[in-house]
Amino acid sequence: ATPMSIISGVGRAAEFGVLVRDADALQRASELDTLVFDKTGTLTEGKPQVVAIETAPHINADQALLLAAALEQGSSHPLARAILEKAGGQTLPQVDGFRTLRGLGVSGSAEGHTLLLGNRALLSEQGIDCGPLEARIEAHSAEGTTPVLLAQDGAVAALFAIRDPLREDSAAALARLHREGYRLVMLTGDNPTTAGAIAREAGIDEVIAGVLPDGKAQAIIQLQQQGRKVAMVGDGINDAPALAQADVGIAMGGGSDVAIETAAITLMRHSLTGVADALAISLATLRNMK
Ligand code: ADP
Ligand code: MG
Repeated sequence: ATPMSIISGVGRAAEFGVLVRDADALQRASELDTLVFDKTGTLTEGKPQVVAIETAPHINADQALLLAAALEQGSSHPLARAILEKAGGQTLPQVDGFRTLRGLGVSGSAEGHTLLLGNRALLSEQGIDCGPLEARIEAHSAEGTTPVLLAQDGAVAALFAIRDPLREDSAAALARLHREGYRLVMLTGDNPTTAGAIAREAGIDEVIAGVLPDGKAQAIIQLQQQGRKVAMVGDGINDAPALAQADVGIAMGGGSDVAIETAAITLMRHSLTGVADALAISLATLRNMK
């Protein structure tokens, strides 16, 4: 292996907006067979919007939105931003005892009510069933929107359906990677139905959903134990352990600094086209050396 050709490969990658940390990273990139993608902000735009609000009979949509937005003031999650944006500049009730439940949602109390806001796993953990809203949760999930549920005093009160569309170039970049023979995997904390609908639209082969933040690196280890050579592509702080565990970590440009510091490869642009470029350059470079 001639170090010179690797160095020229690293230089060539830079011309494509792909920053490769070292020669070894380029070598490992040429050996990959499986590409794992974070969903929110990597496959999708990461700017979710509330597209529907459904309520149980005892509460109206405006009340539910105010309570949900009040809770989300304490959260920096993209879903929190969507709910706050939907509430506009309205005055929000005061929240006591706010807590973040990582990978599940948030909790607290407001206007004398005990509140939980998050996914179905969060509600079932508290023994709350989604009874009257069950069918609506399924319907929204099947369309690729994320259902965020509000429980008030131990009963489900409302459902916020939140849409985060694919980036416009994601499907084309994934189709190219698929043609090149890579197995494409989505890794997400979102629920399996929503994740599956988005995966179909994107052309993803395998979905690993409902993963808690700490479970993302573990999911990479499991793929590696199956003998796969794995790249993880992500943009968030919560992706950093999985980026570090992967054979090659790839950070999306403009993502969190922690993701960029952890990754072997950083894309200057926030587009999956850069992943296909990076892998093509790694293969061309290593092929030239043989
Ligand atoms: P990912 O980064 O893969 O989207 P997270 O671990 O951040 O996954 O979140 C997983 C799920 O937990 C979300 O899809 C959502 O259902 C729920 N959740 C997490 N934080 C919040 C929040 N602040 N408000 C509502 N739901 C939340
Ligand atoms: Mg993300």
